[in-house]
Amino acid sequence: MRVNWRTDRGTRNSFAALAAACETAGITLRPVASPESDITCYSLNSINAPRLLDEIRTAPCITIAGGPHASARYREVAAAADYVVVGEGEYVLPALITAIESGTGTVPAGIATSGAYTPANSCVWLDAYPPFSDIKGTIELSRGCPHACGYCQTPQLFGHRMRHRSIDAVVRAARRYRDVRFVTPNAFAYGSDGRHPRFDRLETLLQKLENDRIFLGTFPSEVRPEWVTDAALELVLQYCANRRVHFGAQSGSDAVLKAIRRGHTVADVIRAVERCRDHGLVPVVDIIVGLPFETDDDQQATIRLAAWIARNGMVHAHYFTPLPGTPLEATVARPLLPETKKTLGRLALAGKATGSWMEPEIRFFRQNQNG
Ligand code: SF4
Repeated sequence: MRVNWRTDRGTRNSFAALAAACETAGITLRPVASPESDITCYSLNSINAPRLLDEIRTAPCITIAGGPHASARYREVAAAADYVVVGEGEYVLPALITAIESGTGTVPAGIATSGAYTPANSCVWLDAYPPFSDIKGTIELSRGCPHACGYCQTPQLFGHRMRHRSIDAVVRAARRYRDVRFVTPNAFAYGSDGRHPRFDRLETLLQKLENDRIFLGTFPSEVRPEWVTDAALELVLQYCANRRVHFGAQSGSDAVLKAIRRGHTVADVIRAVERCRDHGLVPVVDIIVGLPFETDDDQQATIRLAAWIARNGMVHAHYFTPLPGTPLEATVARPLLPETKKTLGRLALAGKATGSWMEPEIRFFRQNQNG
């Protein structure tokens, strides 16, 4: 059977990872721009789902959908697609394709159909699959996150336990690149449980990488503010090429940080910015405006924090988007105050702020892996 991958913006890393996983089972995923026989696979996110669900409904072939939107809304997606991969796909997708090819009618655990769903009873061991094969993608260093930020799909999709690709497997994959960047919920947490640093393991990884330039703690491998310690920054200075460190503040209000369960305070953010500055590194700090619990005072506090950050580094601002499957799914973004738009506009004109506080779609494509 021919098995196709429907290409679309923002799904390349999923394609790279799943093509590599399918290859280990002897299955080739062919990229296509529209559904083709015999099987076409889709990765659905909140932006492409409305458009692609219509296409899936009328596709002239067997359809398999996965990704963050399909995992969170598997019942809705199973009404359009023949099969929905709920959660991680590396093991489940090749198992499903093999089952379809065999014609036995068995459906592996982890797959939803319009009639049934049995959750997967295991999670993926990252070293069992290369991060990519012929189709190059970013190297996924770690998966899962022990935190539970209310707006984030990562723990819902990958669980609360951090799993890491081994040093040997990372070094092997990194040889395909001259400069290397990583995907991870928190780059400084490599080798740890996500709460207690294991910088010895991180340093061993950095020592073993053979690349000309290593980028760590900068997009797409961002970090959490309380992990921006002297020890972490010294590793960046010693081993990495980036002179920016990217982390999430999200709000200038401790009440809002508590409500969205960020697990850090505004003081942690200020300390992280100061530490970057003291080490000669530029902090690039994410904020989210329009969070549902924000009062006017809270939003003003976020904007004051953004203005202070901009004097010491860069701000990356985004308008809140309630994503399916997250604790904040059913909430509504609150409007921006005129002074919020004015301040962010002024910072943008000064080259101190980037982001998408007026365009939530751009926010979405950066939202899934952010410390
Ligand atoms: S935003 Fe970052 S720290 Fe928070 S749950 Fe998501 S990945 Fe974890």
